[in-house]
Formats: sequence, C-alpha cells, structure tokens
Amino acid sequence: MGITKTDFMRGMQCPKMLWLDKHKPQMRLIPPEIQARLDAGNAFGDRAMGMFGPYEEMTVYRKGTRIPDKKRMAERTREHLQKGTEVICEAAFIYYNHYCAADILRKTETGYDLYEVKNAPEVHEQFIRDAGFQYYLITRCGIRIGKAFIVIHGPDEANPFVPVEVTEAVKEYARVVDAHIWELNRMQKEREEVQVEMGGQCSNPYECWYMDYCRGTRKEPEQITFGI
Ligand code: SF4
Repeated sequence: MGITKTDFMRGMQCPKMLWLDKHKPQMRLIPPEIQARLDAGNAFGDRAMGMFGPYEEMTVYRKGTRIPDKKRMAERTREHLQKGTEVICEAAFIYYNHYCAADILRKTETGYDLYEVKNAPEVHEQFIRDAGFQYYLITRCGIRIGKAFIVIHGPDEANPFVPVEVTEAVKEYARVVDAHIWELNRMQKEREEVQVEMGGQCSNPYECWYMDYCRGTRKEPEQITFGI
C-alpha cells in the first residue's frame, strides 16, 4: 500500500513518525484520553452517515476480522458511483496504491460533493488538510467533486451536523498533497530509521505518541539471542 490520509498527515508532521508507524508501531504509546477522543469521533461519524437520509455504506471487512478490506471497498465504491447512488458513505479510493475513504459523498448534477465529518465545534486547519488529501485522491480517480464541506458538531444535539463549505482551501491543499505524497511514500519504505531531532513538531498539531521512544526512555524489547 502507498500513503493513506493518516500516513500523509503524520508524515507531514514528522517524517520519523510515519517511518516509526511502518517499522516500529509497537513503540508508540497512545494516551487513553486520545483513544477516547478517537472513539467519540468515530461514533459521531457513524451517526452523521444518515444526515442526508438513506445511504449506502462501503465498509467491507476482511473475512473473520475487523480490518477494512480496502480493495473490496474501492471496488464497491466504483460500482455505486457507476450506478449513481445518491449518498455514499466511507467511499474508498485507491490511486497508485495511495488510499482514502471519504466520510460522505453526495450526488449533485455534475458529480459529487465531499463531506468530511469532525466531532468538533469549529473548523481547524488540520480538517481542511484531511479533506484536501481526499479531494486530491478522489479527483485523481476521475470523480468530479463540486464542493467540499467539513461537517462540525453544532450546539443542537437533536440535529448536530453543521456543514461548513471549504472548497477553495481544500483545492489549495490538494496541491500540497501532490508535492509531497511521492516523497513520503519513498521515505516510509527506507530500511534505515529516519533521523529527526525532537522539536516543535513533536506536539504540533498533535502530541506525538513516540516521545518516550525518541527521548530514549522507552526501549525496544531486548532481542533474544541463542547460543550456537
Ligand atoms: S517524538 Fe518528535 S521527533 Fe520523534 S517521531 Fe515524534 S514528532 Fe518525530
């Protein structure tokens, strides 16, 4: 697989973070409050799927697991795009092995609009980047995207889904994606550990889960050696 949306965002924050994700994921420490926030975000995203009424969800898991089958999801998405399905959730796309799944695609007269759902009260720059990555991949797959929206969590709990249009900013970030995606893909496959000094990037925009590893306070498990 090439670069996913998460890979791209993490690699842009710090190349070493992406490299560690691929080669030493056992060295990360995800704080429980972050995990709880991720879970709440997923639950909000699941609820948002019905915000436009009936929808088709593209999620397919590998047999006997909860691991998404990305290839099958992309095939299923292609089938629904060809059929002209009105609302497609978790719409998956693969372009030169790079991958993304869009929260919601909604059919328009000329193509589809893109909706990225975030469990937050306002739009942050990072959300636009997420949507920009998706815009890049989806349009490279030949799908015409008209408008792009971030769906934020509004104050009305009975109807909390508030779309904010961010089309121009998303298109602009798609150019940044094109400028970096190929280099990040090459870098993540390097055999030697990528070296980056700790600095401001370790907590901006997100707290890095490898801090203890990079500080040297979290060691890799001792390798077991056998006598000859
Ligand atoms: S702790 Fe800092 S230097 Fe180490 S991987 Fe994370 S962001 Fe990069």
